[in-house]
Parts: sequence; C-alpha cells; structure tokens
Amino acid sequence: MFTPKTVPIRFPSGLRGEFREMLVSEEDLIAATAGSQKSRERATLNDRLLGACWLRITEPGPYRQKFADGKLDLGKMLIGDKSHYLVQLRVESLGDLLRFQTQCGRGHRYEAQVSLKALDLKPLTAEAAERFAQDRLFEVRLPRTGRQVRFALLIGEDQMRVEDALTNSKDELSSELLALRVREIEGFDLKTGLDAETNLDIRGFLKRLPTFDATALRDAIADVEPGVDLEAESTCKCGSITTVDVTEAATDFFLPHTRRKTSLAKS
Ligand SMILES: [Zn+2]
Repeated sequence: MFTPKTVPIRFPSGLRGEFREMLVSEEDLIAATAGSQKSRERATLNDRLLGACWLRITEPGPYRQKFADGKLDLGKMLIGDKSHYLVQLRVESLGDLLRFQTQCGRGHRYEAQVSLKALDLKPLTAEAAERFAQDRLFEVRLPRTGRQVRFALLIGEDQMRVEDALTNSKDELSSELLALRVREIEGFDLKTGLDAETNLDIRGFLKRLPTFDATALRDAIADVEPGVDLEAESTCKCGSITTVDVTEAATDFFLPHTRRKTSLAKS
C-alpha cells in the first residue's frame, strides 16, 4: 500500500509536529464545498482538512497545558498557527504555486500567480509565548484616553465570529475585529460590564475610540500576534501592484489545478 508523505512542521508559536499530505478522500470533501463563498463553510472545511491530515505533536511549545493529552485541539490553537498549517498543507499536497483571476487598480483582469513559499512568517516571541501558555492577557495603555486595555490573541474558537465579522460587519469591521480580542478595559464596572464614565459596553466604547488610540491598540496586537501574512502581491502587465488574501483570492486553494481547467472547459 502507498504511504502518504509525512511532513514535519514548525508553527509560528513554536509548536512542532507532523502532518501528512492530502489524499483523494480529502479531495472529495473539498469538491463538495468547492467555490463556496460562504466563509463559515470554508472555515469548517479547513478545520476538517487540518484535523484529518494531522499526525502528531513532537514539541507542544506554548500549548503544553492546552494539549496536555498530546492531542491537537484546533479550537485552542492560535489562528496564526492554523493559517500557517493550512498554507503548508496546501504546499505539500498541491505545490506552492497559486493561480487566480484578479483585477488591477486600472481595471485589467488577469491571471495572477504567487508562490505560497514567499509569504512572510511572524513568530510568537518567547515572552508572548509564555503569557499565552499561562492564559494571561496582553496589555496596552491607550495614549489619548489613557485607559489600560487587556486583550487576548485569537484562537480557533474565535474563528467563526471572525468569519461572521468579515461577512456581515463590513461597515463596522475594524471595531468588530478589535472587540473580538478585547477582554477588559480599565474603568469598566465589573458587575454591569459597562464603562463607569460613558455607560457604554465594550463594542460601543471601541466604536467611539479615537483613531489614534485604535491605531495604538492595533499596533499592540500586531506586535504580539503570530502567524503567516496571507497577503500576497501580484503585478499586472501595466505595472500596477494588487494585494490579495491568498486564501480568499483562489476558490481552488485546495483544489488541484487540472480539475479547475476541466470545469472551465465544460462551461
Ligand atoms: Zn493593469
């Protein structure tokens, strides 16, 4: 019998382990939801793929307590780690080249090609890893309002809310993505969960935050949150550069390219 290729992986958090390349049984899973624009469906599919191809943990890194039984729990895994795994699974199973249709700023449609090996990786620092391992929140003092804010890094369990925010909250996306991470704000009444001064809840408070403070908060999050930068640049023949999220740009992120050609030929 054929033995699938085993691939060692080191995550941005420091976790290490092994996964195997995808098999046709996983391709069937993908074909069932291929082309779905619903981010919730894609996120669910991705979790099934990641779970099916996982083999073992060799070094738990900051997950030593969370994965104490030796099993990988995608719900407790940092979203940045999950994204890295997703990209690596794609690279090992289908290669690193991704082709997709895109449009430049001047309106030209063209087929872009990016290498998934060129994506930037941002590791979790040793200090942040220790904080995350102990479930301690991260802190930042906002320069304008002077408030101390405590936030958590996004994990798999937050992913559906992130997908919902990306789909439904286009108008309030930036405050929504901050609200998903912020756990405590100095000056809030612990009993009511409302700000003692303005009587706003966390979402309301974040919406009224000066941009200067919101930028400081976003920077503080970006400083510690690990992961892979899913944004890739492609250049049109006319020279303009377009930035795209690789997992969103290509509906066939996990689909072999030949299949896509076949379906195009049919249509
Ligand atoms: Zn162009």
